[in-house]
Amino acid sequence: MADESSVDAAASVVVEPDLVPGLRAPTFLADTLPQIVWTADAAGDVTYFNRSWYEYTGLSPMQSVGSGFLQVLHPSDVERTAARWERAWRDGEPYEIEYRLRSGVDGEHRWFLARANAVRDECGRIVQWSGTSTDIDEQKRFEEQVRRYAAELKESRAELTRLARHDALTGLPNRMLFEDRLQQALVSADRHGQMVGVFFIDLDGFKRVNDTLGHHTGDALLCEVARRLATGLRATDTLARLGGDEFVVLALEIERPHDAIALARKLLAHVAEPFELEGGRVRMSASIGVSIYPRDADGASTLLRHADVAMYRAKQSGKNDARFYAPEMNASAQERMSIATRLDGALERGEMSLRFQPQWDTRSRSVDSFEALLRWNNPELGEVAPERFVPVAEDNGMILALCEWVLDGSCREAVRWSKASGRAVRVAMNVSLVQLDRDDFVPMVSRALDRHALPPQQLELELTARMGTYDVLAAHGKMAALRELGVRLTMDDFGTPYSTIDHVLRLPLDALKVDQRIVHDLEDAPREGSERVMRALVGLAHSLGLDVVADGIETDAQRRSVIELGCGRLQGYLLGEPMLAEEAGVLLGAEPAGE
Ligand code: C2E
Ligand code: MG
Repeated sequence: MADESSVDAAASVVVEPDLVPGLRAPTFLADTLPQIVWTADAAGDVTYFNRSWYEYTGLSPMQSVGSGFLQVLHPSDVERTAARWERAWRDGEPYEIEYRLRSGVDGEHRWFLARANAVRDECGRIVQWSGTSTDIDEQKRFEEQVRRYAAELKESRAELTRLARHDALTGLPNRMLFEDRLQQALVSADRHGQMVGVFFIDLDGFKRVNDTLGHHTGDALLCEVARRLATGLRATDTLARLGGDEFVVLALEIERPHDAIALARKLLAHVAEPFELEGGRVRMSASIGVSIYPRDADGASTLLRHADVAMYRAKQSGKNDARFYAPEMNASAQERMSIATRLDGALERGEMSLRFQPQWDTRSRSVDSFEALLRWNNPELGEVAPERFVPVAEDNGMILALCEWVLDGSCREAVRWSKASGRAVRVAMNVSLVQLDRDDFVPMVSRALDRHALPPQQLELELTARMGTYDVLAAHGKMAALRELGVRLTMDDFGTPYSTIDHVLRLPLDALKVDQRIVHDLEDAPREGSERVMRALVGLAHSLGLDVVADGIETDAQRRSVIELGCGRLQGYLLGEPMLAEEAGVLLGAEPAGE
């Protein structure tokens, strides 16, 4: 950097002032300007700089001569500037160029805009160049900032668009993008006469993983599921997350429905591999519904809805499976809708009632308990079987109010029967897993017992054996608390393909209720070893100190079989159909205990 004194001394010094006599710059004027003013001879060698040059560059007049300019020109601008000069000198045209010059004060480079003109003699020959260099650094920086800001804006706009079309957790396309792609795929499929498959994938029992292992682990599981599902697909397929534990796949170029089955199997297998999560090793399964274009629908939204309906069917028939859409499934989806609408307010309108089915005890040889069964009579739908409306009520949460109502009615009747008959009559009620999931379930049971002053051992709760591993984990604490209260716990539908012995070993239980199908098999269609199965079940139950209830007894032969096999309690149409509470009271009165 040049020292200050040399700058001052250099001010308004004319370099080689006599080089071109008569063309000397009016220096006194130039020194008043903030711009750098300069002149150069016809060859381009600088002959004059005004005061601003010396003040800015800190160079002395001697340093400024000849190639002095190059000392302060930014190295990156040298080539471009030299080329522009050369062209200007060749053409003799005025020119403009931007370059950076190094300041003698702080050593920083600032942007300048140079403008130069050729001065010609009367014959038109160039005798001099004169020009100015104006500091445009501020402006350049501002422009740069604007440019950067604009680029950022563009980027963030692109990011916003990406976010609006992708799922934040897994990074997969979301419903919006999926539907877009599906629309495009249908157009292309029409053009090429191809088929398109939509796979609706829902994890089984995901909510329980979330509830037992926490949301953090639940999120990690979803990300891993997304990764695995993606590995089963081709680059042209689209995997999207619709929300929660729902994923969809758009598979292009399906040639035969068989291809779709193969893909669904592959996806199920990917999910079935154990997951190593923070809370430990977890096994999952999924239910998949498949719809095929153009076979199952003629538009994107219907195709997606039909895949959803088929997925629902896969869930209903035991989960961990894939189902193709079939038109009758749609009818059942519509039926569910119609049930859901009419279920709303059914309790308040008095459309619900209870029936009680007697259970016969083989030891006391008498009826000493009843199972409470819900009945719904709707003016438009007529009698609706619980198997049709209970799953709908479970889905939309209405089961909670229903269950509380059944509990209340069951306790009330048990107290009445007991008082009237002078015996401790027990009432059994079915409890939905949705209900058991609620934290207020145990207090609700306890309050009902208190309200009716029913001894806890006279209340039995039947829990379905159709539990997943996480249902069991979630249920365990509440079941223990219910046991603590003194309430009896029975596992219902035991022996169906969904029940596992593991659950029986883990859960606090008092009894197993053997599924009707096993009882019927004993006589109706004695499948290979059905009697052995029954014997083994009873053996298992007894070894665990559990009572065995045989359900669905319709014939004398079945009754004899189950008694012979060691079942303690019997229920079925043979012994009594579900009846009104008053009829149950009459039955108890007519039937002396111990006979
Ligand atoms: P479940 O708990 O297995 O109830 C036994 C079902 O078998 C009852 O059907 C009963 O009427 C029927 N049943 C009894 N004996 C025989 C027989 O000898 N042969 C045949 N074929 N069937 C017999 P229902 O009342 O239609 O109930 C069906 C299911 O709906 C119940 O199965 C239970 O899972 C559910 N459910 C009924 N009431 C309630 C309730 O209050 N709450 C909940 N969560 N579920 C309920
Ligand atoms: Mg039951």
